[in-house]
Amino acid sequence: MSPSSPLLKVTGLQKSFGENTVLSSIDLSVSPGEVTALIGPSGSGKTTVLRCLNGLERPDAGTVAFEGGPAVTFGPRTSQRERESLRTRSAMVFQSYNLFPHMTVLQNVIEGPVQVQKRPKAEAVAEAEELLARVGLSERRDHYPHQLSGGQQQRVGIVRALALRPSLLLFDEPTSALDPELVGDVLTVIKELAEEGWTMVLVTHELTFAREVADQVVFMDGGVVVEQGPASEVLRAPSQERTRRFVHRLL
Ligand code: ADP
Repeated sequence: MSPSSPLLKVTGLQKSFGENTVLSSIDLSVSPGEVTALIGPSGSGKTTVLRCLNGLERPDAGTVAFEGGPAVTFGPRTSQRERESLRTRSAMVFQSYNLFPHMTVLQNVIEGPVQVQKRPKAEAVAEAEELLARVGLSERRDHYPHQLSGGQQQRVGIVRALALRPSLLLFDEPTSALDPELVGDVLTVIKELAEEGWTMVLVTHELTFAREVADQVVFMDGGVVVEQGPASEVLRAPSQERTRRFVHRLL
């Protein structure tokens, strides 16, 4: 149990697409420096949770609060400004990388810091070069995404997220589009970030990896959180039958 106050607290998050209720009422708490693995069957709402946190979807109801910021309660009267106050707190790494195809690696990484955050270009370039070096991609800075392997593109995706200096990193199945031989490099980078103390929420089917890096595991099914707790408990000795069936199939 962490003594510090949570970095992120989500209460009663709800989201429907038309008649389809995708998130019924999600509660989630993430402590600073903690890695949370969000697991569950396909279609259970995991990606939608990340997209709601990152402002890519608009929740119908619920409250999202980051440490040091205002709690934003969603509903018909939530302002654009309130939603944007959340957007800057997290950065997302997408399953299919989502790099801008017409921009070089360096341009992809500095786009957010320079265009959105209005940071000086020289500073953004210096930081981007440092981050690219860390993931072994210095010599690729002037390449275009199509000239890179999937694993390299995803490492650029991670660098692009880091360059935004978010409080929270969100990973949406970051290795599921990769050829098996490229998965390891990306998982190594994620593991190093976890060891450095980054706070992250990771949607993943890689339960072996989750067992290795996650502090907390949240199991979702049908738009609800069925079980959440320390990774060692949820993955090794789940208390719920639904979790048990899911975990035993994959581990
Ligand atoms: P998971 O990440 O657990 O696989 P998702 O969050 O991607 O689940 O999807 C949950 C459900 O929400 C699915 O039934 C999916 O079809 C639906 N859904 C997700 N995004 C949209 C959208 N933009 N419009 C309509 N339905 C959506």
